[in-house]
Amino acid sequence: MELKYKRILLKLSGEALAGDQKMGIDYDVVVRICSSIKKAVDMGAEIAIVVGGGNFWRGRSSGEMERTRADQIGMMATVMNALAVADALEHLDLEVRVQTALTMQQVAEPYIRNRATRHLEKGRVVILACGTGNPFFSTDTASALRAAEINAEIVFKATMVDGVYDKDPHKYSDAVRYKTLTFSQVLADQLQVMDSTAATMCRDNKLPLLVFDISDPDNIVRAISGEDIGTLVKEEN
Ligand code: UDP
Repeated sequence: MELKYKRILLKLSGEALAGDQKMGIDYDVVVRICSSIKKAVDMGAEIAIVVGGGNFWRGRSSGEMERTRADQIGMMATVMNALAVADALEHLDLEVRVQTALTMQQVAEPYIRNRATRHLEKGRVVILACGTGNPFFSTDTASALRAAEINAEIVFKATMVDGVYDKDPHKYSDAVRYKTLTFSQVLADQLQVMDSTAATMCRDNKLPLLVFDISDPDNIVRAISGEDIGTLVKEEN
């Protein structure tokens, strides 16, 4: 199979790693996702992964807690997911490096852009944890930021729905899936694709975004081959 995209930034939400239990890590699910990542790497793709942390903690839903501290807990949550994904990829004989935006050198490398790209060139999968390293941001924003830094051609947002709809497909049977969208539409209509900081970052840096369903992990291979799945969000046409 031919590659449509060579270097991609894959955003894996915490939810995608939790499976049916919705909380914590379902290792079997992680292994299934990683098997598809391996196929993509074997095809020649260079993959950097930004992991979320929502299966453990979300800073913005932490009630009375001071937001900066709550977000620090959220960033730590992404590290747990990063280590689980690294472990599964290594079991599949891939070379992996975890880099964190907050340093914890006994556990992972610090995030260094040039090192990350060097790893990718050598065929290693790079897992980026702790989001941007700053509170008040999300791992979606980290995905846009890191994708721009490492010159990824596209951000893949692997989610639990098969694209972006005009209304909630779980509530409305007549909901229609968009095949393509612009970031301006996403921002103006407040479509639930990614937060507005992340969408603006993608738009301003001309980074396309493909939203697709990860419950079939082979969608990663389909997406990288350019098959018509999910919703492609681009800058204005
Ligand atoms: N977070 C943060 N700064 C970042 C990225 C993440 O403070 O740059 C914290 C924030 O509290 C967030 C949590 O980490 O709620 C988990 O990330 P996110 O909610 O993006 O995870 P996902 O929903 O994708 O699983």
